[in-house]
Order: sequence, then C-alpha cells, then structure tokens
Amino acid sequence: MIQLSKRLLEMEESATIAMSRKSRELKAEGKDIISLSLGEPDFFTPQFIKDAANEAMVNNFTMYTPVEGYDDLRESISLKFKRDNGLNYPKNQIVVSTGAKQSIANVVMSLINNGDEVIVPAPYWVSYVEIVKVAEGTPVIINAGIENDFKVTADELEKAITPKTKMIIFSTPCNPTGSVYSKEELQAWATMLKKYPHIVVIADEIYEHINFTGKHASLAQFDEVYNQVVTVNGVSKAWAMTGWRLGFIGAPKMIADACTKVQGQFTSGTSSITQKASIAAMNADPAVLNDMIAAFKNRRELVLNALNTISGVKTNLPEGAFYVFPDISSFFGKSFEGTTIRTAEDLSMFLLSDALVALVSGEAFGDKNCIRISYAASEETLTEAMKRIKVSLEKLK
Ligand code: PMP
Ligand code: GLU
Repeated sequence: MIQLSKRLLEMEESATIAMSRKSRELKAEGKDIISLSLGEPDFFTPQFIKDAANEAMVNNFTMYTPVEGYDDLRESISLKFKRDNGLNYPKNQIVVSTGAKQSIANVVMSLINNGDEVIVPAPYWVSYVEIVKVAEGTPVIINAGIENDFKVTADELEKAITPKTKMIIFSTPCNPTGSVYSKEELQAWATMLKKYPHIVVIADEIYEHINFTGKHASLAQFDEVYNQVVTVNGVSKAWAMTGWRLGFIGAPKMIADACTKVQGQFTSGTSSITQKASIAAMNADPAVLNDMIAAFKNRRELVLNALNTISGVKTNLPEGAFYVFPDISSFFGKSFEGTTIRTAEDLSMFLLSDALVALVSGEAFGDKNCIRISYAASEETLTEAMKRIKVSLEKLK
C-alpha cells in the first residue's frame, strides 16, 4: 500500500488555487460563475515583452541557463532595485527563480531547521505558513485586525520574538489585505530588528508597483537591517506574466548562494525564454504601468463603494495590490433556506452556490472574520459580481 509522506499529509492545499480550480470546474459544467478568487491580473503581457521572448527563441536561447539566472538579467534586476527601490544589490546577491513562490521556498529551505520559529503577521498570503511547515519550522502567527488596517507595529512584532525566532515573513503591499507599510512604519521595524541581527526578514514586494499611495517603501533600504533582509519580487503581477514563472530575490550573499544551491537540486534555472523576456520588463520605465494602476484604482473604488452599500460588511481602505478583505463576521449565525452561516468558509460557499461568485475565505489567510475579493477583473464583471453578492447577502436573516 502506497503511503504519502507525513510532510505532504500535513500540508494544506493552496486555498487560492483550490477555489480557482473549483470555479473552473463549475464553469465547465455550464454554471455562470464569476471568479474573483485568484490573484491574477486580467491584462495580457505587454507586447514588447512578448517580442523579447520571440527574439530569444529566434536566437536559440533554448538551453539550460545558469541556476541563479542569466548574467544580463541579474544585471538588469540590479539596476531595477537601484532605480525603483534605492536598493544596492550587486548581481552576485540576486537569484532568479521559477516565481516568487519558489524564491520564498528557497529562502525558507536554506535557513529553517526543525523547531525554528517564523513569525508571520496575519492576515498573510496562504503559502507562507505551508512553506514554513514543510521546512519543519513553527509558524508563529500574530494578528493584526481590520481596526489596525491589518498592520503590525514594531512593538507587536518584538513581543512575539523568542530565543527560537529565526525569521519573519510579510508582504507589502499585502496579499490579502491591500495594506501598505509606510516608510516610517518600516523604519520602526528596522530600529527594533537591529537588536536581533540573527533574525532574517523576508520582505515580499511582489505587488510593489500596484500601490495607490505613491511611493513604495522597502525594508532593506535601512542600512541597519540591510544584512538581515531578503527582498522578494517578480514579474507575475505588475507585468501580467503569471504564466511565465519568474521571481527573484536580492539578499545577503550567503543567503543568495544558499538559494542557488537549493534550486540547483530542485529545479535548475527558470525558463531561458522567460528570462530574456523579463530583461525587457526590468529595463522598462515603470511609468508604462500607470494606465494599469489607474484601472486597478477605479476597480477598487467600484468594489468598496458597492460593499459599503451592504449593511454588515466592514472594510478598510486597501492602498495597494488588487484585493479587498472585508470583515463579514456580522453574518455569522444568520441563515437562508436552512443554510446557516457559521464561518467565513460557510459564507464563501454560500456566495458560490447562491450568487455564483467565487471568493476565498479568510481562514486560509489567517483571519476567520474576512473574505478575500480579488478585483483583477473588468469593471463590467465586478459590477455584476457585486450586484449578485449584495442580493445574496441581503437574503441572510
Ligand atoms: N507572494 C505573494 C504575496 C503573492 O500574492 C504571490 C502570488 N502568486 C506570490 C508571492 C507568488 O508569485 P509568483 O507568481 O511569482 O510565484
Ligand atoms: N498569489 C495569487 C493569489 O493569492 C495566485 C495564486 C497562488 O499563487 O496561490 O491568489
């Protein structure tokens, strides 16, 4: 009898991916499902990036690549870090991977031993906790509620630090809340963290460009913690390249070398064609993204305005990414036609069956009072989805 590993059996399936699979299946059965479950831009990859990919194929960039990524790509990432983030990461501190997801997994695999504690402020992106568990680390969750704009202070972080703490993982702009840490808030983190130079922070900045507050702030910009921070980024979100699979880190050299070693055994370097295409994205002026960012901002208004007309739904003002994470706990205990809503999962299942709208329940992101709505969809689709959600929620008594 074949037995799956304990590691696998204890792993949760990614809730974002599970919900998007479920909505695809229901669509295939002919149901008119609107899926706002997956964090994926609905834009196509810009033509100049596709042209660079075509050119790479014509020029026979079709063979194994250096495990850490082509030199010219890492050179352009180094320039991007300097240009956009004021960060100084020479090429030998940059590792390119098969998506930011793999970048994060590499860092965790490189540093975490059995029993090491990893602080993860909640709400968090679903995969952080599962990656930590696979590495036999112990996730330590600290909660930031909607009343704090879902952000944790340096003091709250420090209270969670124990002699076993080895790492902290967070995202800004945040998936699932859209919250953005300001330069001042990160400065306070840096001042606190410099007392703990053995703790590594993974700063996941994959939504960097989708920021409605103006300037993105990176934790690694503060000299006092530069040697403790791994900055994660990638091309999936801003450049609408989710299927191309490319993420990267800027890290202390020791960690960059470790990640190259891990990836040399697990995957080798990511696709040659994707790497050449990504050079075009890295070299482009981020101003070319302004129209897309403006579109996301309009969609955010549309979704927030619609939610604010539904009594019992509480929202914060997400300043980045493309998610709204409303608190829907006031519906717990309410029913419709024999279905009683007890949890956020129950509510997302009710909205799937009654409104035919797929969303992700907050439990998977470490917040049982909320649901995540991805607004990476057209205004027309969002208008229809919000109308359906309102009708369904108003049935619950
Ligand atoms: N971090 C966050 C916060 C994300 O939302 C995602 C979305 N997939 C990732 C990392 C991984 O991105 P990638 O497609 O580059 O693996
Ligand atoms: N990050 C996206 C999300 O949160 C894509 C799905 C995934 O990679 O988990 O929906």
